[in-house]
Amino acid sequence: MPSDGAAAAEGHQGQKPLVRLKAVNKHFGSFQALTDINLDIPQGQVAIVIGPSGSGKSTLCRTINRLETIDDDGGYIEIDGEPLPLEGKPLARLRADVGMVFQSFNLFAHKSILENVTLGPIKVRGLKKAEAEKQAMELLDRVGVAHQAKKMPAQLSGGQQQRVAIARALAMKPKVLLFDEPTSALDPEMVQEVLDVMIGLAKEGMTMVVVTHEMGFARKAGDRLVFMADGKILEDTTPESFFTNPATDRAKDFLGKIL
Ligand code: ADP
Ligand code: MG
Repeated sequence: MPSDGAAAAEGHQGQKPLVRLKAVNKHFGSFQALTDINLDIPQGQVAIVIGPSGSGKSTLCRTINRLETIDDDGGYIEIDGEPLPLEGKPLARLRADVGMVFQSFNLFAHKSILENVTLGPIKVRGLKKAEAEKQAMELLDRVGVAHQAKKMPAQLSGGQQQRVAIARALAMKPKVLLFDEPTSALDPEMVQEVLDVMIGLAKEGMTMVVVTHEMGFARKAGDRLVFMADGKILEDTTPESFFTNPATDRAKDFLGKIL
């Protein structure tokens, strides 16, 4: 049955996965935060990552865009068939290919909304200012905050700031977007406006890894559900199957707490 995540990863006619993690381990000192992570994400897949606090979800995202190194023990990460580069220009290019949206927005506080979205394309992609501004205005329009372009981040609501953060990530024309609990810091009434932007991206075929406990979103936009606990992937299946019929006691226990 092509209904589990691993089968879904292979289902793309022999195409190489866009993101590949093979036997990835990650220690912080003597503490092992990730253990034997194997994850192939094909082009266009929306993979939801769920699990208790401290299970390694953020660490997983951070290793994929090289905010964290992984253990040097033979495990590896590839983006679009290329091994994760370690430094210099290849690393800057990787960061452009792998966009990340954080829980805490992380906009540049002393730059305008427009500058937040133009900075990366000008510095890393070498766009002229006028070109970068045109593209930024289109992206800000798409996420519904074009009329706020001249404001500073602190003048926007949390939901608006997070939509700007998504526009900023898109401006780098990433191959894959990582979202680390993008709605957990938001007031409840602002959650849906951010999820709606993400649902739109999913429909357009953006490859996404989304750490979230928003089950409505997971069911609606997720192709795959990865459940983590204690730094390991315990389940790799579809959202439907996970939420209706979790296979492990850890997942049942976790769902009992959040449902
Ligand atoms: P999650 O996002 O699932 O809540 P994290 O990936 O943030 O989990 O953390 C996984 C584990 O790794 C936690 O026990 C956390 O304390 C530990 N950890 C994360 N980052 C560091 C770090 N920089 N130094 C030491 N321990 C860390
Ligand atoms: Mg986290």
